[in-house]
Amino acid sequence: MSQETFPEIREAVRRLCARFPGAYWRALDRERAYPTAFVAALTEAGFLSVLIPEEYGGSGLGLAAGAAVLEEIHRSGCNGGACHAQMYTMGTLLRHGTATQKEAYLPKVATGELRLQAFGVTEPDAGTDTTRITTFARKDGDKYLVNGRKLWISRAEHSDLMVLLCRTTPRDQAKKPSDGMSVLLVDMRTAVGAGLTITPVRTMLNHATTELLFEDLEVPAENLIGVEGQGFKYILDGMNAERILIAAECIGDARFFIDRASQYAKDRVVFGRPIGENQGVQFPLARAYVQMTSASLMVDKASAMFEAGEPCGTEANMAKLVASEASWFAADMCLQTHGGFGFAEEYDIERKFRETRLYQVAPISTNLILSHVATHVLGQPKSF
Ligand SMILES: Cc1cc2nc3c(=O)[nH]c(=O)nc-3n(C[C@H](O)[C@H](O)[C@H](O)COP(=O)(O)OP(=O)(O)OC[C@H]3O[C@@H](n4cnc5c(N)ncnc54)[C@H](O)[C@@H]3O)c2cc1C
Repeated sequence: MSQETFPEIREAVRRLCARFPGAYWRALDRERAYPTAFVAALTEAGFLSVLIPEEYGGSGLGLAAGAAVLEEIHRSGCNGGACHAQMYTMGTLLRHGTATQKEAYLPKVATGELRLQAFGVTEPDAGTDTTRITTFARKDGDKYLVNGRKLWISRAEHSDLMVLLCRTTPRDQAKKPSDGMSVLLVDMRTAVGAGLTITPVRTMLNHATTELLFEDLEVPAENLIGVEGQGFKYILDGMNAERILIAAECIGDARFFIDRASQYAKDRVVFGRPIGENQGVQFPLARAYVQMTSASLMVDKASAMFEAGEPCGTEANMAKLVASEASWFAADMCLQTHGGFGFAEEYDIERKFRETRLYQVAPISTNLILSHVATHVLGQPKSF
């Protein structure tokens, strides 16, 4: 996003982030601990409810405002991964929930009284082929009984509610593979220990991700969102917002790396001159800036289309692809510019390097985006 958009929001986010410097994140990173104080501060300042309509207690702003918040968080060296989903997971409820469901949950999500930041789609065996999920919700009177397994479900231990995608009709009995999946709103506060087991998965970055095991978990039928069997469509709707917001985080990361490398290249003197005087150091820095700026225009475009209610699946995907590549190039450049110091924990470069690598894999991997562009835009034959 260009710096001109939402200057007051950006300034306020930067001020808040200044209270959570590198030392704060480093300590959490070592323990893989959750940034509770940071998330509480963002919630209190209202930054996580910018997308919730005013009638439900949010600020009713568009996606570009959310993107500005997340970009600034990442540019400041902080990480929005612990709570970004509190911004957009509610979109499934907002777009497809009943009036009663929205009134029951959205105002509390807006204040942060309820955390709705777990989103359960991925399964160990299905991978990216979501139609192959097997977690099953069987209707039993006024409830569903859920059985199955999910993997990489982030923030599950730090969420009161989870948007869960499961099958309600087996794949081979559905009219088409994407039919027969449904979305349930799971109340984690009552589910854990009563049919839901959460196991943390330690990863190369501090992301509070988990594995979930469902064993006859009871979910009230009234927690079905939208129409039974149509859940895949609802989930896809929400993914565009997620991809655009995560692309904005990548732009923020790229800016962080470029800021740090620029300063270091000016300050570090080797062979009697600042390393930045060497074109071998300058050019990767300039290239990172060019890539970040170009990617940022794609994020702006996707975000404007989303706000205008236009179909933006391709643009959201392209924005995520170029932004995640720009942030990764900038990360590598920044580490190289810092030489050995780039590997030292106290510079925060190695931490951010690990963190930004995620976005070429999640929430959707680069190959799958290329496949979408090749087949949907360029008319190439489908390979799967
Ligand atoms: C830290 C972390 C947090 C996450 N959080 C969540 C979450 O909160 N909720 C959730 O539901 N999921 C979450 N995920 C899951 C994430 O969305 C998936 O990991 C991602 O979509 C890739 O799926 P996969 O890991 O199953 O890879 P696979 O589908 O097994 O793919 C492996 C590799 O093969 C490539 N590949 C597969 N098929 C093809 C093909 N046909 N053509 C070319 N290449 C192909 C992929 O691009 C990828 O590089 C998270 C993952 C991580 C690592």
